[in-house]
Amino acid sequence: MAEKKARQIAIYGKGSIGKSTISCNLSAALADMGYKVMQVGCSPKADSTAFLQNGEMTENPILEYSRANGMDADKIENCITEGYKGVLCAESGGPDPGAGCAGRGVAMALDYLRKYEIYAKHDIDIVIYDSIADVVCGGFGQPMKAGYAEEVYLVTSGELMSTYSSNNICSAINTVAAAGANTRACGFLVNLRGVDNEVELVTDFSNKIGVPIMGIIPRMEKVQRAEARGGTIVEKFPDSPEAQLYRDLAKMVVENKNKYMPTPMSLEDIIALARVHEAFE
Ligand code: ADP
Ligand code: MG
Repeated sequence: MAEKKARQIAIYGKGSIGKSTISCNLSAALADMGYKVMQVGCSPKADSTAFLQNGEMTENPILEYSRANGMDADKIENCITEGYKGVLCAESGGPDPGAGCAGRGVAMALDYLRKYEIYAKHDIDIVIYDSIADVVCGGFGQPMKAGYAEEVYLVTSGELMSTYSSNNICSAINTVAAAGANTRACGFLVNLRGVDNEVELVTDFSNKIGVPIMGIIPRMEKVQRAEARGGTIVEKFPDSPEAQLYRDLAKMVVENKNKYMPTPMSLEDIIALARVHEAFE
């Protein structure tokens, strides 16, 4: 078996900020560059990888499958599908709604991937964890814990709740680092919402947190047009400037070697920052 160690990268941000769109386009661009990529959706919604798979939801999210069938080294392969250009896709899935803890579910699903050495078995170069962060409970923090992603990208906009969520993720990075993980923040990916003073606010926020802005992504109507066709911009509009933007991001992620220990702000300071920039939702 190959002894290559996959490079593991986590994309974190609040719900609906654009993590899955960024993750899928990054995965597609990395696959175009020749890397063997695996994208792991870490949310009970199990919709992370759909646009790598013609817009279709994964049939067997790991937790749902394991509840019904148990789990072993062969069974877990039933939870892994091949999407665009050979990108491997898996979804943690989650507990039945109203029963069980979604965060713990993510942790269990990721533990299966590790236990059965899926990344080595499939000779994966790069793993992308598409990770939620509405609440950074222990389970949702699993993708950044020791043995998983050491590189975290924070998806944010200039909206207060989005910076609040990114700030929580920074606190979680501090916590896992204090527990011994080499996990650090690599940068902000700003997914613009079009609110006033947005870039100014995130620039200010980034300076205070001590983590640089590594990419700014405008609102792009091609995101929806690509989704309507069941795929990413990289797949459906490969010659567009929008696809080039995601390819540039992918190249930046591959080449980046800088990691930062964030210095989270207090809630009062975040609110003050939003007030200065008049950025309230
Ligand atoms: P998350 O995974 O963080 O919950 P998604 O990636 O699913 O968020 O994005 C939420 C919605 O926003 C989707 O419907 C997607 O089409 C849209 N979206 C994301 N990024 C952009 C963008 N740059 N321009 C326009 N629409 C976007
Ligand atoms: Mg998502």
